[in-house]
Amino acid sequence: MILGIVAECHFDCNFHISVKIVSKFFGLPQGKQKNLFASFDSKFRKFRFKSTFGNNPFMYPASIQQLINLLHRFPGVGPRTAERYVFHLLQYHDQDLIELATSIARLKNDLHQCKNCYNFANHELCIICSNPQRDTTILCLVADARDLVAIERTGHYQGVYFILGGTLDPLHGITPDKLHIQELLSRLNNPHLRPSEIILGLNPNIEGETTTLYLKQILKNFPIRMTRLARGLPTGSDLEYADADTVSAALAGRREVNGNY
Ligand SMILES: [Zn+2]
Repeated sequence: MILGIVAECHFDCNFHISVKIVSKFFGLPQGKQKNLFASFDSKFRKFRFKSTFGNNPFMYPASIQQLINLLHRFPGVGPRTAERYVFHLLQYHDQDLIELATSIARLKNDLHQCKNCYNFANHELCIICSNPQRDTTILCLVADARDLVAIERTGHYQGVYFILGGTLDPLHGITPDKLHIQELLSRLNNPHLRPSEIILGLNPNIEGETTTLYLKQILKNFPIRMTRLARGLPTGSDLEYADADTVSAALAGRREVNGNY
């Protein structure tokens, strides 16, 4: 007779099963434990083969499986990670679960898009556009609110923003009409809202470069200074490990050595 202690079972949405085994077989010498474990493992593989074709005799209750499936939709969350999250949630007190569920349910309540910049806001204007201390003569164009937050974290930018709602990616159907391009043009056509400088704060990837080129083209006739974020070596990196494009961008963007840098 073989006795194994199974610590926990994991299933993914295709009903593949993986079993973590605490390999303790009681009352047997060390050498024999290995043989018995191999024998058990062999049986397990056979079972896994069957489960692939829907003969899995183990299923989570519907409430668990449904939550796994929902969490599996999150970016970067695979079925096993989703499963781990659900088992983590099962350890929560009821009140904590209610608090979490309520926060999710209320996430989009009272949440608007700022009418000036399309940032998330609880009122007509976002916290940045409603701040009279911000310099409205400098406008930073970013793809989404996360990029805005990344620049705000520096604490060195006092201008305002405009969120495009993404970057151009025609192969995946993201064309100019899917972004806030017309709204940007409307803003720039208004002399009271038009900045004196636009900073293109887009990612240095293919989509970001495509969007930058497009914006350069459609904004060239406005009497506005256009700049872009510098490209080059990240702080703390090693020159010898940087790729050629990065070093090339750093060379092209070199600057005078002054008192601060
Ligand atoms: Zn705003």
